[in-house]
Amino acid sequence: MNNLEDSYKAKGLRRQLVKEIEGKGIKSATVLSAIGKMPRHVFFDSIFLEHAYEDKAFPIGEKQTISQPYTVAFQSELLNVSKGDKILEIGTGSGYQAAILLELGAEVFTIEYNQKLFQKTIEFLPKLGYNPHFFEGDGSLGLPKHAPYDSIVVTAGAPNVPDALIKQLKIGGVLVIPVGDQKQQKMIVIKKLSQNKASKKEFSHFSFVPLLGKDGW
Ligand code: SAM
Repeated sequence: MNNLEDSYKAKGLRRQLVKEIEGKGIKSATVLSAIGKMPRHVFFDSIFLEHAYEDKAFPIGEKQTISQPYTVAFQSELLNVSKGDKILEIGTGSGYQAAILLELGAEVFTIEYNQKLFQKTIEFLPKLGYNPHFFEGDGSLGLPKHAPYDSIVVTAGAPNVPDALIKQLKIGGVLVIPVGDQKQQKMIVIKKLSQNKASKKEFSHFSFVPLLGKDGW
C-alpha cells in the first residue's frame, strides 16, 4: 500500500523538478503548476523520495514504467488542454499522467492493457482524489464506445499511427503518440483538420515501453 503523505522535503524536491523541466523547455504555466502540485512519490511502491523527483522513468512492476516527468509534461503541453476537454489516455500505468490531465481540468478516459496494473491503479488513484473513467483492455484500438475525443494521448511506443485513433478524434482534435521501434520513438502530433484531412508534426526522440495489442507490437 502506498503511503499517501506529502512532506516538506517532497515539496522542495518537486520545486527543483519543476525548475529542471522548465529548463528543458516546458513553457506551459498550467502544466508546470500541475507537475509542481502532484506528489509523484506516492505513485511509487518504495518510498525513495529522491528517485521520485529525479527526471527519470521508474519501474512500477509488470515490466512497465511511470513515465519521465519531462515526457509527461511534454505530452501534456502538446495536448493544449482546455477545462472540460474529453481526453483518452492509452496506457494508464501508475495513473500519474491521468492525474496531471485531471489537474488541468480535463475529463479523462484511461485504458490499461495489463490486468494487474489496471487493478492496482483503479484502487489507488481515487484515494488521492483523482477519478478518471477507468477501462481495462487493448487501447491500441482506442475506446470507440466513448468517442469522439478532444484529444488522445498514447503513453507507450507504437510501431505506427493506428487509423482507429484518428477516427475517434473530434474535428480539430489532436493525437499525441510516440512512434518508432521498440527502443526509440519520435513524438508525433496529428491534428484532425476535417473528416479526411490531418496535419502532422514530429518531435525528436523519446523512449517508451512498447504499445502492445492488435495495432501495437
Ligand atoms: N501513463 C503512465 C503513467 O503515467 O504511469 C505511463 C505508462 S507506461 C510508460 C505504458 C503503459 O501502457 C503500461 O502500463 C502498459 O501496460 C500500457 N499499455 C501497453 N500497451 C497497451 C495497450 N494496447 N492498451 C492499453 N495500455 C497499454
